[in-house]
Amino acid sequence: MNARIVNCPQCGRPVAWDTAQRHRPFCSERCRVIDLGAWASENYRIPEKQDQPGDEPAGESGTPEPPAAS
Ligand SMILES: [Zn+2]
Repeated sequence: MNARIVNCPQCGRPVAWDTAQRHRPFCSERCRVIDLGAWASENYRIPEKQDQPGDEPAGESGTPEPPAAS
C-alpha cells in the first residue's frame, strides 16, 4: 500500500497521510497548534477587554470594609 506523503504546512516535514497521523496534515500537535494560532490571530481580533472573573485568589481581594456607623 502506498502511504501518501504530504508536507507539514508549518515546518515542511514530510508527513504520512495516514489515519494513524492524528494531526495531519501537520506532523505533530505542536505544529497544528502553531499554525492554528497564527491563522486565528490573522483572521480574528482578540478582544482586548477580557473579563476573567476568579483570576485573583479568594480572600485576598481587598480588606473588608467596616459597616458604616450612622
Ligand atoms: Zn510540522
